[in-house]
Amino acid sequence: MNLITHALVGWTAANFSKTLSKRDMFIITCAGVIPDIDGLGAPVEILTRDSSNPLLWWTEYHHGLHTLLFCAVVCAAASFFGRRKLLTACLAAISFHLHILGDILGARGPDGYQWPIPYLRPFSEAWQLTWEGQWKLNAWPNIAITMILLAIAFRLAWLRGYSPVGLFSEKADTVFVETIRKRFPGKI
Ligand SMILES: [Zn+2]
Repeated sequence: MNLITHALVGWTAANFSKTLSKRDMFIITCAGVIPDIDGLGAPVEILTRDSSNPLLWWTEYHHGLHTLLFCAVVCAAASFFGRRKLLTACLAAISFHLHILGDILGARGPDGYQWPIPYLRPFSEAWQLTWEGQWKLNAWPNIAITMILLAIAFRLAWLRGYSPVGLFSEKADTVFVETIRKRFPGKI
């Protein structure tokens, strides 16, 4: 799935508890996106594709951090930086695994490649998680899921008075929530 969908899934997980601070919610949302930092090699691969010495950083490393070990690192960081340490770490683990589940369901490449998840790497190559019904990255279910997640984020913003916009700017979030509440004066 794309980064926006992953972020919205992470944000939904971060709303599991009403008592979390913005900082904890930011950490949990990040945990739902961070496995894809192993895809940062893509621009390098594209830029060196036609050279005599191409660097296949995308092909070789993408999904390399979609692992249980990296999840443990992320949870340790979540616990270290979070205020409600245990809850933040647990929700970060859920957010991380929802990312993996999302990729198994709907991240087939345009060429049909399934990008298996090497869940136990580097300890074992035994689990290469795939699902034969996996749809493509740009398929309609991903668009539908993103729309549903957006609707959830809007409803949560209306109800609770904050949205993912607040992860970047408190001011912009206040304006955003006010706009939604004015646009939908009844309950949404
Ligand atoms: Zn991913």
